Amino acid sequence: MLGTLRKAFERTIIGDSVPALVRWGKHVPRSVIRGIQEDGFRDLIRYAAARQKFFARKLREKGIDPSHVRRPEDLGDIFTTPEDLRNLPAEDFLCRKPHLVFETTGTSGGPKRVYFTYDELEFTARYEAAAMYENGVRPGDRVVCTFDAGYWISSWVTFCACKRLEVFCSAIGKPHPREAYSRMGLYRYNVIAADPTWLVSLSEIAEKEGTFPVKLILAAGDRMTDVYREYVESIWKCPVILGYGSTEQGGGAGMECQRRDGIHLDEYNFWFEILEPDAEGYGELVVTTLSRRTMPLIRYRVHDVTRWIEDPCPCGATIRRVARIKGRRDEMVVMGAGNMYPEIFERVLHDVAGISENWQVAARQEGLHDILEFRLELSNGISTGTVEQKVRENLKARFPDVWANQDCGMYRLAFRFLPPGSLSQGRKPKRLVDERNS
Ligand SMILES: [Zn+2]
Repeated sequence: MLGTLRKAFERTIIGDSVPALVRWGKHVPRSVIRGIQEDGFRDLIRYAAARQKFFARKLREKGIDPSHVRRPEDLGDIFTTPEDLRNLPAEDFLCRKPHLVFETTGTSGGPKRVYFTYDELEFTARYEAAAMYENGVRPGDRVVCTFDAGYWISSWVTFCACKRLEVFCSAIGKPHPREAYSRMGLYRYNVIAADPTWLVSLSEIAEKEGTFPVKLILAAGDRMTDVYREYVESIWKCPVILGYGSTEQGGGAGMECQRRDGIHLDEYNFWFEILEPDAEGYGELVVTTLSRRTMPLIRYRVHDVTRWIEDPCPCGATIRRVARIKGRRDEMVVMGAGNMYPEIFERVLHDVAGISENWQVAARQEGLHDILEFRLELSNGISTGTVEQKVRENLKARFPDVWANQDCGMYRLAFRFLPPGSLSQGRKPKRLVDERNS
């Protein structure tokens, strides 16, 4: 019933208005949000059981009657995985004729393909527009979006969101930062949407050659460390807001608010679970797409590791928050140093002078000892001793727990220095590898 009610409400009260969607969506009581989710979930399960070969097969294998499924846990260990998307034909997931396809590549294997209709792209963009509106984007603003285009979705979602908001928008793929910088004045861009490392490069140009009046920066894509964020904010003197999403999630699945303390997730269009949380609550994010009908994903294992922030946000929004993504489950290496994620080493290495962008950290084993080996390319003739000293200092200062485990003899640090170009790794380099027992 709620599904029908929601639809009627959205049509008659909210219509196409993004401000109304924000006003309505921000303060919905939790019990109503949960009702909308449960209703959407039941609808989706019935729909997909009848139309999606993959899901119907899973139900049959597990002997589950879809009419009895009310909540994700009723599906037991039925999940959809990135490997399923990669290895099975699209027809196994498609429930109706698509208009659009986007791809995403992981750290290993071929691309995953996700199909949509135009309506679904516009619908996603509506919620993306709401998040942008909540963060201060208004008619009259001028947005430059440099999310990678090609077969990726985020540039299109941002473009369609800007269309909804009726703001000027250049979605230009991912050019060299200098190309965008050279047009900042000409087109009077005051909102930038881009990947974190691209923003750092743009900011380095602006630091030397001057900035422009920018009121808001939206970042998504690769990881934004606190150090990157503080640097970019200090150059442009405006907030950097993080978005969260992926092609499988149809672009945006959540965004920070101006408090910048956790990501508000779009609980109207997704049901999120956190699987097997550890003592601190961190576990793998699992998502069900409640609103899509072309290629819905049921309990999709995103592999991102995060935890719920249970306290209500001071911004007043009732949709829940998760902590910043800690890493990808398939990139985590459990070893003597602790639970290691690539992000740890990004934070240790980003300001070490004299090494190239290509680096890798390996967990190895020597006899009974775990070794954490930094493989670094020297870029400007700096001495290996200086680099090693700086890496040790950063690790000790930024990750005292990891450092302490070394003092306790739980692992040893090692360094290997290589000539430039030795570690060149392509679009999504594998930053952290586990080479024990191999
Ligand atoms: Zn908030």
